Amino acid sequence: MNKRLTFVLVLIAIVGGILFIFGQRWIGERAFETAVDRRAGVDQTAQLPDGLHVYVCGSGSPMTDAKRAGPCLAVLAGRQGFVFDTGSGSVRKLGAMGFPFERLDAAFLTHLHSDHLDGLGELMLQAWIAGGRDTPLPIYGPPGTDRVVDGFMQAYEIDRGYRIAHHGPEVARPGGFGGEVRLIDFPNEERADDIVFRDDDIVIRALPVNHAPVDNSYAFRIEYKGRSVVISGDTKYLPALARFAEGADVIFHEALNPQMVGKLGETLAARGNADAARIMADIPDYHTSPEDAARIAQTAGAKALVLYHLVPAPPARLIEQVFLGDAADQFDGELELAEDGMMVSLPANSEQVDFDQLL
Ligand SMILES: [Zn+2]
Ligand SMILES: [Zn+2]
Repeated sequence: MNKRLTFVLVLIAIVGGILFIFGQRWIGERAFETAVDRRAGVDQTAQLPDGLHVYVCGSGSPMTDAKRAGPCLAVLAGRQGFVFDTGSGSVRKLGAMGFPFERLDAAFLTHLHSDHLDGLGELMLQAWIAGGRDTPLPIYGPPGTDRVVDGFMQAYEIDRGYRIAHHGPEVARPGGFGGEVRLIDFPNEERADDIVFRDDDIVIRALPVNHAPVDNSYAFRIEYKGRSVVISGDTKYLPALARFAEGADVIFHEALNPQMVGKLGETLAARGNADAARIMADIPDYHTSPEDAARIAQTAGAKALVLYHLVPAPPARLIEQVFLGDAADQFDGELELAEDGMMVSLPANSEQVDFDQLL
């Protein structure tokens, strides 16, 4: 190779390297500016029609899962937002989906299993700081919710002081910290189906379900301008849920596949993990199979059934079919498996059910 060619090649390499290093930074800066322009201070709900919009902020279960947060469904009813359960990681999903924390009216806990409330501290914090609250967030839940909320507030007390000191009480309004508990307490199962929240066009009802040995576990029904959504919470197969859900547009029902959980248990037992095998043997008796959830949706006459709180969560498309088993044969409507980031929209006074994936 002659010297001239070598010189030219070295020059090209140097110039290319400089462009690569500084060009990348330039492209990165433009990408960041575009992202900021699109998201910061922009109402991500501005394009949504008036109606009910359900954010799947957590489709998982107590089993750790990199892709699925713990159980969480958030509902936007017109201008008002509600969160139903707040499992681990779910508040981050809500933020990523553009949920308007400043319009969060209340949180509801279906029951007090930890996987349904691990994110409660984070939710109260986001409602306070991102949501700009000056009164505590109303939190509806079964007896014991007061102890849970007290505990989270104690855990966050030090952080509260830091934030007020740093941002000032005009921004971190001291009165907006934490939660204010509204207990939902049905004295017996006779007093089923009851209104627990009413405001303008929004009605929220609760139904005690069967998740024994958990003392109180509720399903919720949210109604707004002719549209309705039912959230099962955790329950074994409960035919009364079909009556509660009668005529609902969409049912979000928990689901556990007993055969798959059985297989997991067998494998764990064969490998000497008796405790985990015992847990796998225990859990099918207080959850609902996909087929039974489909029966509930069929009897209720729902337009769509979305299975969430998936145990075990199918890790691939092929395995989703195994998880569903014969559920599709039991239900004439649309059957979906929830994924984090999914949004289900029900425009007011229509029959439409639209699915979208925001993440
Ligand atoms: Zn659960
Ligand atoms: Zn549970």
